[in-house]
Amino acid sequence: MPVAIEFKGVGRHYGAVKALDGVSFTVQEGEFFSMLGPSGSGKTTSLRLMAGFEQPSFGSLQLMGKEASGTPPYERDVNTVFQDYALFPHMTVLENVAYGLMVKKIPKAEREAQAREALAMVALPDHGQRTPAQLSGGQRQRVALARALINRPRILLLDEPLGALDLKLREQMQVELKVLHRKLGITFVYVTHDQGEALSMSDRIAVFNHGQIEQIATPRELYHQPKTRFVASFVGSANVVETALAAKAIGSAKAFSIRQEHMSVGQAGTEIPADRVQVEGEVLAVQFLGANQRIEVQVGDQILTAMQIESEATAALADRTQAGQRIALSWAKKHMVMLDS
Ligand code: ADP
Ligand code: MG
Repeated sequence: MPVAIEFKGVGRHYGAVKALDGVSFTVQEGEFFSMLGPSGSGKTTSLRLMAGFEQPSFGSLQLMGKEASGTPPYERDVNTVFQDYALFPHMTVLENVAYGLMVKKIPKAEREAQAREALAMVALPDHGQRTPAQLSGGQRQRVALARALINRPRILLLDEPLGALDLKLREQMQVELKVLHRKLGITFVYVTHDQGEALSMSDRIAVFNHGQIEQIATPRELYHQPKTRFVASFVGSANVVETALAAKAIGSAKAFSIRQEHMSVGQAGTEIPADRVQVEGEVLAVQFLGANQRIEVQVGDQILTAMQIESEATAALADRTQAGQRIALSWAKKHMVMLDS
């Protein structure tokens, strides 16, 4: 597959602030690529570099196989959707969507026809004459999408586009964005700090931390094979067993991750088969969460968490388990993932 975007050792420093500190990755044409990370990790900076609103302090950046530095935003085959919509309040929806074509001096009839087409694409065909104030949050975000799509960009950049919406609408828009991506067949680069959102929508995810990329992988790979402590705990909150406890548990002082749902809870002092590892500790809390039950256990100087699917067995376990009680946690060796850093 042809490459849509390529970063080669790209950095962006603001004085002493290393917003982006030497990242390399490629995005394939047609891919749904997400940049996931906590606030301040360099996601928006990366997106602004792609859009051309920023220039790299060092490194090189290519778009569709061509060096991008020096190409202004409006000459890039790229458009951006922001979280805050950035619609013009005094213009109608149709005028907002057609704005990019008006700047390009496309005649009125033609730009309005294209704007209507773009609005139909985002399922808002009959709202052209309203102003942004007459729309709901979800509808405004659709207008922002239509406006970004009207120039038919090869690459669509989305910076936390659903961040301002409530959970239910966010989930609905996630599905719609996926459908739109499939229909258009263009490259989507999606910024989010929400790991669930990234896991559910993306072909691949780059995990950002402190201006660097910790790992790039498919959602399943990231979830099951995290390479670092940060990825293990940020993506799906796995337990990270640190070296001191690892030395006791497996006889080797190497940190590893083990998912909460792979932890079984048992009575202290019971024998376990050779393909499992067991540690003992003191129950800190048993939390009923509806579909799941979470048990937090103090093991040595660490807190480990077991997540169990709610059943009669977990209900019975909760009945006989109290904070302060000694308990065993065990897991299959095959579920342990050794960490690089
Ligand atoms: P994210 O989108 O992951 O939350 P950003 O890319 O916006 O993170 O920012 C990364 C870091 O760079 C943050 O510490 C931020 O404060 C800093 N930063 C971003 N833009 C600027 C700027 N124009 N001037 C100074 N610091 C900036
Ligand atoms: Mg940001």
